[in-house]
Amino acid sequence: GLLGGSGKDDASVSGRVRVAVRLRPRNAEEMVADADFADCVELQPELKRLKLRKNNWDSDTFEFDEVLTEFASQKRVYEVVAKPVVESVLDGYNGTVMAYGQTGTGKTFTLGRLGEEDTADRGIMVRSMEDILADISPESDSVYVSYLQLYMESIQDLLDPTNDNISIVEDPKTGDVSVPGATLVEIRDQQSFVELLSLGEAHRFAANTKLNTESSRSHAILMVHVKRSVRGKEEPISSENGNGSHMVKSFRPPLVRKGKLVVVDLAGSERIDKSGSEGHTLEEAKSINLSLSALGKCINALAENSPHVPVRDSKLTRLLRDSFGGTARTSLVVTIGPSPRHRGETASTIMFGQRAM
Ligand code: ADP
Ligand code: MG
Repeated sequence: GLLGGSGKDDASVSGRVRVAVRLRPRNAEEMVADADFADCVELQPELKRLKLRKNNWDSDTFEFDEVLTEFASQKRVYEVVAKPVVESVLDGYNGTVMAYGQTGTGKTFTLGRLGEEDTADRGIMVRSMEDILADISPESDSVYVSYLQLYMESIQDLLDPTNDNISIVEDPKTGDVSVPGATLVEIRDQQSFVELLSLGEAHRFAANTKLNTESSRSHAILMVHVKRSVRGKEEPISSENGNGSHMVKSFRPPLVRKGKLVVVDLAGSERIDKSGSEGHTLEEAKSINLSLSALGKCINALAENSPHVPVRDSKLTRLLRDSFGGTARTSLVVTIGPSPRHRGETASTIMFGQRAM
């Protein structure tokens, strides 16, 4: 939190969301337009601190679990943001990795880059699958994925564009969430996963062209289901018969462990101008604000260890319900740009991240 604020410092505290901030480098336009100006933030990665400039002589300081500068590699970002979540999914728990920030600050770069030209560019989705495929055994375990877009409270299947009205089913007993209408594709190798992601991306582009909207207005949600058979170890069970002579060896039956990884590339967090905008844009703005603020409320509730996480307020939070709290792990990366012209949006992104901690 703001220095001296939050007393929580242990990632193992239940429900706690890990929050990283990532700054992208100046782009070509900013190099010119902002040439005479300092960045709106100053990062101190060793101290895990970020300073947000108020004016030439004053700034506010914030602490995060990780502070990733414009020089942080994709590999390092994966390791600090996603790897612990992937490891717990491999152990049979649910985990979520989300990117939140203004459009153009690097959410898709962080999560969705395929790295087809240069493997160093690969983002969190591709690296997660690589670690999952490396860890499982192909004979007894399986990996299935679905890839969805959530736009204006309606869920579309990015793996089957004809399937655009998917509903969410919650198991009242276990609290598990599923989307039975979504296409599930089994993944056996990395190459077919990368092809699937790029197919999903193409479908997303086509769907948004048809709807006359931009992909920055919708959430992209990758779900990875990992099912493993954990063979019980041979375990001697002593069944002493009074005089202690009789030992029986018994075998535990194979256990099935299911983990689910959800990677969410959230809609752009920028305030959408509601005045004077045409057609569906007002409805769009309302719906994005609804789902992002519902998400904010849920992760605030988690951060405060509140027994009530208000998941019912939006489809986004209903989908993520079994990833909130309990044994689930959640990691949030907030992405920001350096331009002093976007200081206001950057400040509100930083505050969203702070409230999650
Ligand atoms: P968003 O998904 O948040 O709208 P993008 O991921 O599309 O943003 O990034 C916007 C632009 O900035 C893209 O051209 C992307 O390649 C570039 N970019 C984002 N983050 C970085 C980074 N860390 N290093 C270099 N370029 C980046
Ligand atoms: Mg994007």
